[in-house]
Amino acid sequence: MRLTPLPAFSDNYIWLLDEDDARLVVDPGDAAPVLAACEADGRAPLAILLTHHHDDHVGGVPALLARWPGLPVYGPADPRIAGVDHPVGDGDRVGIGPWRFDVLAVPGHTVSHIAFHGSGLLFCGDTLFSLGCGRLFEGTPRDMLGSLDRLAALPAQTLVCCGHEYTLANAAFARVVDPDNPALRRRQEEAIAMRDRGLPTLPTTLGSERDGNPFLRIDVPAVRAAVAAHAPGAADDRIEAFAGLRRWKDGFRA
Ligand SMILES: [Zn+2]
Repeated sequence: MRLTPLPAFSDNYIWLLDEDDARLVVDPGDAAPVLAACEADGRAPLAILLTHHHDDHVGGVPALLARWPGLPVYGPADPRIAGVDHPVGDGDRVGIGPWRFDVLAVPGHTVSHIAFHGSGLLFCGDTLFSLGCGRLFEGTPRDMLGSLDRLAALPAQTLVCCGHEYTLANAAFARVVDPDNPALRRRQEEAIAMRDRGLPTLPTTLGSERDGNPFLRIDVPAVRAAVAAHAPGAADDRIEAFAGLRRWKDGFRA
């Protein structure tokens, strides 16, 4: 199995997954990098997976369908996404080539956001990032926390394939929230070294995120205390604490 994050726009990743002669494309916001990669190695995708309707995740679909007519497109049942001929939702199981994925509804960033989990991989779009989580454009804090709780319960070795290279900015905020967490400090140092060498910091592992990502650590006393100090009164309730942490990040500038 080979997993390739194709950079797109300023900080997106389009994921290519290969096994033998099978290939999947996940969240092609732009067709050009996908067409270039497929041209370069003479391989064509078996299908496209989409996590949510934002243009930087789906914008390349029409051009890819023009290149490969009839290519199956799996995504949320959401009229805002053109080209989905296999709408899927929570509890569905998708089988493509050698892969099997469970579909999880993960509302929060958008209301119809889904994630694909299987073969040790998690394609989670803009729900979970390394050391962060997506902004709440359409869902509530309760929605997003419920989604992150579900993702956090997956096996520790799961490779987390996120939609953006946000790790360094997320690390700067996470260190303010949780400064005495050695796992977080190590992850930040590792990410800085990777970016210095021009490498993606992704995929990450779910175990690493459980150890370092403050949005998965809302029940850890140090994280709860930091939120309470920043927004007094918010810490008693875990959803309020999560909401306070997300608002704090929204206003944070490193
Ligand atoms: Zn998005």
